[in-house]
Amino acid sequence: MEKKKFVYLDNAATTPISSEVYRDMIEAYGKFYGNNSSIYQLGREADNALEEARAKIAKAIGANANEIYFTSGGTEADNWAIKGIARANKNKGNHIITSAIEHPAILESCKALEDEGFKVTYVPVDEYGVVKYAEIIKAMGPDTILISIMTANNEVGSLQPIRAIAELARANDVIFHTDAVQAVGAIDINVKDIKIDALSISSHKLYGPKGVGALYVRKGVKIDRIIDGGSQERGMRAGTINVPAAVGFGSAVERACANIDENNKYLKSLRRYFLKSVSEKIHNISLNGHPSQRLQGNVSISFEGAEGESVLMLLDRDGISVSTGSACAAGNLEPSHVLLAMGKDEDARSTIRFSFGLNNTKEDIDYTVNKLQKVVKKLRSISAVRIYKNKVEL
Ligand code: PLP
Repeated sequence: MEKKKFVYLDNAATTPISSEVYRDMIEAYGKFYGNNSSIYQLGREADNALEEARAKIAKAIGANANEIYFTSGGTEADNWAIKGIARANKNKGNHIITSAIEHPAILESCKALEDEGFKVTYVPVDEYGVVKYAEIIKAMGPDTILISIMTANNEVGSLQPIRAIAELARANDVIFHTDAVQAVGAIDINVKDIKIDALSISSHKLYGPKGVGALYVRKGVKIDRIIDGGSQERGMRAGTINVPAAVGFGSAVERACANIDENNKYLKSLRRYFLKSVSEKIHNISLNGHPSQRLQGNVSISFEGAEGESVLMLLDRDGISVSTGSACAAGNLEPSHVLLAMGKDEDARSTIRFSFGLNNTKEDIDYTVNKLQKVVKKLRSISAVRIYKNKVEL
């Protein structure tokens, strides 16, 4: 019998902390316990470490350090961008454009603003999960103040045409925000070159610690604060920053952004290897997301006649961690809003997201595909959907 392995294939949900980041954080926990707002030496040292981390994050995306604000993660950065920018600019208009496939941190923030009287257009996507640019142009009006479109989708990995959207926004004096939580460290992003006005990042998607992230806000963009209290983060985001976590975040971003090409080459080779093996061993499957304009670590596959949650549970018994969509939808049996927006109604309940990371190997893939083949076969054979019999290999 094959020995049980542990294979983590949910790196889009979160990544393990890299050993270098871990080392940097341990050192920071020991050294920088002062409150970085305190003006004595211990505080100043913590503050210097925080500013060094800020500078690394700014450099990674081509921003200035004074345009980076630390947050508790991607969700807070998204909430702040949407609510803070809309509220600060409501004298100019009350219309926001976003897409149907955004993360709930964006969608729920937009919903909250609808309750405040803002109007939101949720632009559709094509069958590859790519936002329809023409629909954004159609939605633009004199009251449009903000466009928020993610850089890369977290469920199917499709990259969005943010350069064109940012150009359009700038030409029309509309603020452009992008949720780049899945993209920073995975693709090159230069906020000045792409004309991005605000951008959300999260540390735990790029081998850094959880509970820390950042919002880039271009100098001159009006944004209200949403967390009231002390004068931290230049008066824009109250609360004592977790300096060791920020140090780990800075270290993680620096490392990820310095090795994008090399990392992508590796992830692409894993992706190809996995797809070749899966398609040879399991039939009646379909791939979701854009074939080329995509994150290399993400593979979303629908297995006809095999229910996604059941595939997930059975793979878990074999020590393999995958997800049915995004981590935030885990435990929620509703079909993914992303797949539904892509018109994948039938497939939405039989989809698994495999997200590879730098720690994965070809042996992990061999083990996974071997188990997956058995799991899918078993589920198809007991599935009530016996009508598949003629179509599906049992
Ligand atoms: N935006 C996207 C695209 C994500 O994938 C996630 C996390 O899954 C978030 C936002 C939320 O980030 P965080 O987990 O840091 O709050």
